[in-house]
Amino acid sequence: MFFAIRGTQHNGHRYLPDLYRRGVRLFVVDRAEEIPEGLGAYPEASFLLTEDSLLALQAVAAHHRQQFRIPVFGITGSNGKTIVKEWLAQLLSPDELICKSPRSYNSQVGVPLSVWELNSTHTLGIFEAGISELGEMARLARVIKPTLGIFTNLGTAHDAGFASPQEKVGEKMQLFADVDTLFYCRDHEAVHLAAQALLPEHRLFTWSRRHPHDAHVAVTVAEASADRTVVHVGIARPLAQEHTFTLPFADEPSVENALHGLAVLLWRQVPATEIQRRLDRLAPVAMRLEMKQALNDCYVLDDTYNNDLAGLTLALDALARQPRRGRRTLILSDVLESGLPAAELYGRVAAQLATHKVERLIGIGPEISQHQLLFDGVERAFFPQTEDFLANFHSDQFQHETILVKGARRFGFERIVAAFQQKIHGTVLEVNLDALVHNLNYYRIRLMPGTKLMVMVKAFAYGSGSYEVANLLQFHRADYLAVAYADEGVELRQHGISLPIMVMNPSPDSFQKMQQYHLEPEIYSFERLRDYLRAAHDQPLPAIHLKLDTGMRRLGFAEEDIDELSIVLRENAARLRVASMLTHLAGADEAQHNDFSRQQLAAFQRMTPRLEAALGYSVIKHALNSAGILRFPDAHFDMVRLGIGLYGVEASGENQEALRPVSSLRTTISQIKTLPAGHTVGYGRRGQAVAHERRIATLAIGYADGYDRRFGNGVGHVVVRGQPAPVVGNVCMDMCMVDVTAIPEAQAGDNAIIFGEEMPLTTLAARIGTIPYELLTSVSERVKRVFFAE
Ligand SMILES: *Cc1c(COP(=O)(O)O)cnc(C)c1O
Repeated sequence: MFFAIRGTQHNGHRYLPDLYRRGVRLFVVDRAEEIPEGLGAYPEASFLLTEDSLLALQAVAAHHRQQFRIPVFGITGSNGKTIVKEWLAQLLSPDELICKSPRSYNSQVGVPLSVWELNSTHTLGIFEAGISELGEMARLARVIKPTLGIFTNLGTAHDAGFASPQEKVGEKMQLFADVDTLFYCRDHEAVHLAAQALLPEHRLFTWSRRHPHDAHVAVTVAEASADRTVVHVGIARPLAQEHTFTLPFADEPSVENALHGLAVLLWRQVPATEIQRRLDRLAPVAMRLEMKQALNDCYVLDDTYNNDLAGLTLALDALARQPRRGRRTLILSDVLESGLPAAELYGRVAAQLATHKVERLIGIGPEISQHQLLFDGVERAFFPQTEDFLANFHSDQFQHETILVKGARRFGFERIVAAFQQKIHGTVLEVNLDALVHNLNYYRIRLMPGTKLMVMVKAFAYGSGSYEVANLLQFHRADYLAVAYADEGVELRQHGISLPIMVMNPSPDSFQKMQQYHLEPEIYSFERLRDYLRAAHDQPLPAIHLKLDTGMRRLGFAEEDIDELSIVLRENAARLRVASMLTHLAGADEAQHNDFSRQQLAAFQRMTPRLEAALGYSVIKHALNSAGILRFPDAHFDMVRLGIGLYGVEASGENQEALRPVSSLRTTISQIKTLPAGHTVGYGRRGQAVAHERRIATLAIGYADGYDRRFGNGVGHVVVRGQPAPVVGNVCMDMCMVDVTAIPEAQAGDNAIIFGEEMPLTTLAARIGTIPYELLTSVSERVKRVFFAE
């Protein structure tokens, strides 16, 4: 069953034809008139017409929830919801069979999907709820129906949706109107007031570091070291006692999150020694699924932190979205805490492998090994322990595969991921796929419905990795991709990208290839057009895109060429199809050129009707790049061409805050030396001697990686432990040196950020008088890319 949900940026009704083709036969819709192609196009399907598909989904989930009379935790607050949920589950798992929200499924859609996972074997539910505006919590409360609550804390996130902090806390509190017990930290005054207003005293259970006499659990931090925190707790009720516990964390957010869990264990009267045992095993929660380049042209999807059934489905969905050629392989540990009998559990896992097109399974663990006969549909191998797999691991067993590595924490699958990753050197470009989608949507909602979106993935997708970005764009339904050269397009096709692709600089010797891979050339001169027509003599060739020069003076037919071009088009109408006409603005990013840009757009609008008249049909017309999309909303025409904005840089500089940075380039400190006064650093002794002692760190990045030589000698700085470290001396080919005298805690192995949130690309580019485009595209291909989604 598919619920067609409408949001601000998406309309689920659009997906119906595709889903019908893939076998979905029951649809919940709320706008019959928005069913593409009308009901007649779905002869075998049934439709349920509701007021609002999202409300229908929530109502179904609320009904499902009513079938279970078990305790259910609801968790909300500004920060820490997901971690508190995961840790509470870790802490209670010895006593309970727990159903919890997968990842951060806490939205209006995520909550019903989470609650839907409840089944008769569960003894406890733990669900998180997140909201951004008024009215949302009451709906989530109806779905979760918590009997117990945790309010994590109150920060400033999503303030925009509320008139005041009181309104925000009041809205969030609605989740707890019916709970038997609400847990919270009494030190958040606003939370405390709102809780007292909502519930009688006996339904509150509080912990505090600041008000020891006014809370159920008084916490004093006795000792904090680099990686652990020792706390004394005094419990007033239910039993007066005192204990000392060690939390395996030192940072403040982790300590607060762990204390929420500790409060619940104390309330349940779990014996102190047992509490400590469980605290010791608390493990960090991976908030994101990472895709990493690995050996032999493999990609690894790294999901090594937990392994329950709901999480497995999500990870398999992510795997199935990879259209690459080559096998899909799953390396899977025993699945824990499902509450199902093992045979049924692994039967379900096996069925999922088939629907997600997994061709090869490597099962690791005693339980999955015992049930290997259930997996007869795939190529398979089993090992009792991770060590056994690693002992038998040879890199040539894996070639051109996409490999999901999914294992419960205790199997230590990070060792498997490390074995797969070519360790070239310590420099990494991290690409945040969620930020990319955010930026895509920022532009997309500015388009009229029906305006198409072409995305520029030339130059290795502005350095971000063409296949990975193209794959995401395909999933999010961009209409067109554009690359500079035919080879870039061929590579996308070889990775399974099926969107239409325009090639901006086709050379005549690539026409054959373009035909083979269905790549559409941009034709910008009579010469190219003649070449193409000549090639089209023997075979039908892909449609072309006509480039018109309206003022850029780079490539394209000029206005005075239009008559002659019309004649050629008319003469060759039978064997030449035009897909689109485009022009490119020379100054879209600067307001000072607005008049010129308007003249360009006017010229384009004079030229295109004449060509369309010659063709006898109309074609897609497009003119605007990222900056132009924002500046000239009335000139989007039939399609726009999004480039740098997708990658997080707002070219005009006027709306930068609206975009999220996508990539972050970081490296590691290889070594730190203490230099006495009077010593020089590096080639040509250009790092000049100074009169005091210095600490100089050598970084594993140089100009061959894309760290420009112009950053040398103090022009650039990197960020180490949140602080700036200036470049000393010349940047070398594979290394450079920075001064960390002012950062005494810096040590070898630390990260150094070249650009990212801490060091905006625009700022960095300005340092050497260039533009973000150049910095992004010069990150060398030898730098490993890591893609992640939160
Ligand atoms: C690169 C390119 C774009 C995208 O430009 P941005 O400034 O990155 O948005 C659009 N059109 C053409 C023809 C391009 O070459």
